[in-house]
Amino acid sequence: MLVEANISRTLTDLHGRSISYLRLSVTDRCNLRCLYCRSAAGWQMLPHEHILTYEECLELIAVATELGMSKVRLTGGEPFIRKNFIQFLEQVLFRHPHLNLRLTTNGTLLNGKIPALKSIGVQALNISLDTLKREKFQRITGRDFYAQVRRAIDQCLENDLRVKINVVALKGINDDELEDFLRLAIQLPVDLRFIEFMPVGEKTIWRPDQVWTAKDILDQAREFVELRPSNDQDKQHGPARMFHISGGQGRLGIISPMSSHFCNQCNRLRITPDGRLRTCLFSDHEYRLRPVLRSTKLGRSQLRRIIVLASRIKPIGHDLLSGMRQEPAVCRKVMSAIGG
Ligand code: SAM
Repeated sequence: MLVEANISRTLTDLHGRSISYLRLSVTDRCNLRCLYCRSAAGWQMLPHEHILTYEECLELIAVATELGMSKVRLTGGEPFIRKNFIQFLEQVLFRHPHLNLRLTTNGTLLNGKIPALKSIGVQALNISLDTLKREKFQRITGRDFYAQVRRAIDQCLENDLRVKINVVALKGINDDELEDFLRLAIQLPVDLRFIEFMPVGEKTIWRPDQVWTAKDILDQAREFVELRPSNDQDKQHGPARMFHISGGQGRLGIISPMSSHFCNQCNRLRITPDGRLRTCLFSDHEYRLRPVLRSTKLGRSQLRRIIVLASRIKPIGHDLLSGMRQEPAVCRKVMSAIGG
């Protein structure tokens, strides 16, 4: 059959992009209330029974690897808030020892868990940290957990776990801290990744004048340090443009979804905590996988089929962004419900 014939070990779309990277969100719950993630509409949590079980997540990862996807990022919400998350990670790595498994976390709940992560084979963490000032941390996230995140970064480095620090670049909020962040990457072997603020989620507080652009970040950084492009960037860093900082142990990375999109290289699929497949961050078009996962009649072949067909018509997100008119957001769902 035509569809089955298309199910090869690599996923490609009609724009010729090959899709090899799954971002799977294991929960929409989070212990922070970051202003860029927050919706003025308030927080609406998914009912527990709608959230995929770990077995269902494992099934999706198995299908993804069968389809040739080699990288899986687990995210949320805050993934470490979910009960037994480390045991789940252990299962993922036990079943897929060669998977390029990544995690994105706010780092607040890692105390005491890092040796366990290391021992089950986790090699790196992306930790979100938008400021190096305790009071500002509280203003951005709504919680006073700055010390916990800094301790988590130190513990990761002590245990030889690689750390990338994700910073949402917010004009008027953290654009006065670039020098301090660069100093951190000079002193510690951590990669910084400044991400332009995106208009995601209904009633987002996003405004165009709050976008601290990639160009401004790079121009300003060059006032403090010498930067040299890192030439392994395409292979390992996805959309991040990476730069060595002279005299530094870590690097500076820039992710510019707003000012210079990278849709032509996008190799991602996202699955929300309630099992909806999103082929583009900026499109609210979703494919419901949970009923298939829970059906007694439909099985893995049906899941594969949906993922293959949906992937083929993966949109170009930047077309959606540029089509944004009076709407304050390009898509309705907030990041914590999609999985950032
Ligand atoms: N709780 C985890 C964390 O804090 O890293 C994972 C979920 S969080 C939604 C994932 C990432 O999305 C974070 O790095 C966050 O900074 C980023 N993010 C959320 N909303 C964003 C927005 N509107 N623009 C740019 N980045 C955003």
